[in-house]
Amino acid sequence: MLTSINHIGIAVSDLETSKNLYKSLFNISSFHEEIVESQKVSIASFSLNGILIELTAPISEDSPIAQFIQKKGEGIHHIAFTSNTIQDDLDKAESNGIQLIQKTPIQGAHEMLIAFLHPKSTGGVLMEFCQHSSEL
Ligand code: ZN
Repeated sequence: MLTSINHIGIAVSDLETSKNLYKSLFNISSFHEEIVESQKVSIASFSLNGILIELTAPISEDSPIAQFIQKKGEGIHHIAFTSNTIQDDLDKAESNGIQLIQKTPIQGAHEMLIAFLHPKSTGGVLMEFCQHSSEL
């Protein structure tokens, strides 16, 4: 079951510039920083009342984020929903005709398993399901 918004992914070309912007807007003392090899990105995130804002910069030209920025520029990239039964939720989405980018979850940031739904079948919104590894 999908239970809440987990994070909002924002595509940025330069993590330091973006961190400074968010520092100037919010009272952030520190960011969680991590490299996610599966997506070839470097992230910096902070929590706003339990919802993460995830700044995501490419670390390689063939990163999906690099391709996104090339096509559309920086901006909101995806919305991620917390699931407590990620494989069931993916199977259910697929059986409802939604095209999945990952049919089985892959390793994401924050020790979560993640999978993306294709925006072609979700009204142009790139959605991600995620579930913490410790809950599986
Ligand atoms: Zn995400």
